[in-house]
Amino acid sequence: MEAVAVRCPFCGGEEVARKVEGTERFFGTGGSFDYSVCAACGSIYLDDAGIDLAPHYPEHYYSYTGAKRPPLQTAVEDFVVRQRARFVLRLLRKAGTRVDADARIVDVGSGAGDLLRGFAAIGYRNVLGVDPFLREGVETGGVAVERRPLKAVANDVRFAGTAATVMFHHSLEHVFDPAEQLVAAARLLRPGGGIVVRVPVVSYAWERYGTYWVGFDAPRHVALPTERGMVELAKRLGLKIAAVRYDSTENQFVVSNAYVAGRTQLEAFPSCPPRTALRKLVTIPLRLRAAWLNAQKRGDQAAFVLLPASEGIKVEP
Ligand SMILES: [Zn+2]
Repeated sequence: MEAVAVRCPFCGGEEVARKVEGTERFFGTGGSFDYSVCAACGSIYLDDAGIDLAPHYPEHYYSYTGAKRPPLQTAVEDFVVRQRARFVLRLLRKAGTRVDADARIVDVGSGAGDLLRGFAAIGYRNVLGVDPFLREGVETGGVAVERRPLKAVANDVRFAGTAATVMFHHSLEHVFDPAEQLVAAARLLRPGGGIVVRVPVVSYAWERYGTYWVGFDAPRHVALPTERGMVELAKRLGLKIAAVRYDSTENQFVVSNAYVAGRTQLEAFPSCPPRTALRKLVTIPLRLRAAWLNAQKRGDQAAFVLLPASEGIKVEP
């Protein structure tokens, strides 16, 4: 990953409202990581763009679990990914982007292709994962995954201009230069195609929990936008935001509270479907609160659809 000048990766602003110090809480490995809060748009970004983050993505990190899971967990997760695929298709339709059954669907940061299997399961089989960090030998269940950077895939004539949609499902916050990623994504789009970005959004949960906010996730999350930051980024690149849908959950309270109490995510929420189902029941009030925040556009994550603006894509952000 190459170093970039210290300025807001979303609006491009250089003025910093304040500095915050994050520490690793998911696994509890600690450390100290300096972040800046942009004075212009309120987005947050890691200062040290040269840092090696590889040690913070251990082999059992959730994106890389592959297809080897217990049957009950598989059934629950398969249901969830199909629902997520339908959610994305509805949002694209709302933004005016048609995705036919044979249209190419690209998922950037696909891991082992779990979500793409969800699309395939509901009839969309022309799916392609892009993940330079997916290890060789990880089972992808038949999903084609390009194990190289998005930019390289976008410059490949076999793929450029072919995708009905290019999606970033909680992957864009892991890169230092979201502008470069979106420009590459736009290059992959066919005419009429749209980019879907699902990201944590700096909003109420950040104001309430600060660096204990689950979405902060230092140091893996290196660039966290406000909605305004996303609007500014799109504008800088010659894209426009055609639809926004907040989809935050009770996790913004449940996991953030665990962090405040000094527990890691792994301690607080061991992978156990029956217990997860029980937790879904007891946290219904928090889910309602999340839904209320979503309706106010104050949830801690959202899905954005970005379309090329009429003037076309600016290659140099
Ligand atoms: Zn900014």
